Amino acid sequence: AQPLLLVQDLRKYFPVRGGLLQKEKKFVHAVDGVSFSVAKGRTLGIVGESGCGKSSTARLVARLMEPDSGSMIFDGEGVAEFGGIAFKDFRRNLQMVFQDSFASLNPRLTIGDTVAYGPQVHGVPRTEAVKRAHALLRRVGLEPSMFASRYPHELSGGQRQRVNIARALAFEPRLVILDEAVAALDKSVQAQVLNLLQELKAEHDLTYLFISHDLHVVHYISDDVMVMYMGQVVEKGPVEAIYENTRHPYTRALLSAVPSMDPDHRTQQPPLAGDPPNPINPPSGCRFRERCPYAEAVCADKIPYLGAVGGNKEHVVACHMNCAASGHSRAVGAPAI
Ligand code: SF4
Ligand code: MG
Repeated sequence: AQPLLLVQDLRKYFPVRGGLLQKEKKFVHAVDGVSFSVAKGRTLGIVGESGCGKSSTARLVARLMEPDSGSMIFDGEGVAEFGGIAFKDFRRNLQMVFQDSFASLNPRLTIGDTVAYGPQVHGVPRTEAVKRAHALLRRVGLEPSMFASRYPHELSGGQRQRVNIARALAFEPRLVILDEAVAALDKSVQAQVLNLLQELKAEHDLTYLFISHDLHVVHYISDDVMVMYMGQVVEKGPVEAIYENTRHPYTRALLSAVPSMDPDHRTQQPPLAGDPPNPINPPSGCRFRERCPYAEAVCADKIPYLGAVGGNKEHVVACHMNCAASGHSRAVGAPAI
């Protein structure tokens, strides 16, 4: 089936001042050749430490900023060519929910008006927009008779995030990008909101891009997972493959940093040591090599490209050793897909 979103070789470098006299022009490789696709109705989780480029990738996809290069195809059409009405339609079809539920709400708008606002901008008559808003508020667990006339500051963090979700759905989008959308919530509220997101996805035929640093949450909600490190994809595949047949040492380190409830699934590798290196001068070869317990000479000399793990074309990893913990079978992959 044709993917809803196809992203190819996306790049975005941010200029920074560097060098002794602060004159030399240098670049942070925020997003450095990222490719992925999301099939209709699926959830792609994007994980990595802060600064790995996951939020920048989301912002590029939403065209909140322009990439330096690369292509994006949304439902079979090139996003770069969207102008005028097509661009407005693309923006409606793609909605975002961010971590900071408070900052993304207008403090002077009631909850009801907040949710009804978007559709009105897109030409839905006010009475219809309000009707839709109330139905959505009810659906996300905020009874409109109690909540529609309240203001954001009168709500809890979890309630505000429900408003943000309702507001996004009011546009009747096809793709929703959730950037750390449950990160600020208590564990129990987090679980409720995740369940709500799952239900809404089925009810509204949605596709999700779910960005998070939390591997438990990503495991729970994702069909496919993409792990990013310093602007690049290091491992990608179906959720079971990523969690049960983890191949990249960085993914392993991320997983072992999460305390497991299940003693049978504790990974052997010690938690991730050190910080990511300076993004202005990434290490040669593999960007993870200074933190990698399996690094060898080849890792400094050669860039590892994404290649298939065993016979599974869906599961790809960018590591010269491919098989991280067991026996260093050298299987350098094909060029990135
Ligand atoms: Fe570690 Fe080398 Fe694999 Fe990079 S390519 S993750 S340094 S083993
Ligand atoms: Mg972020």
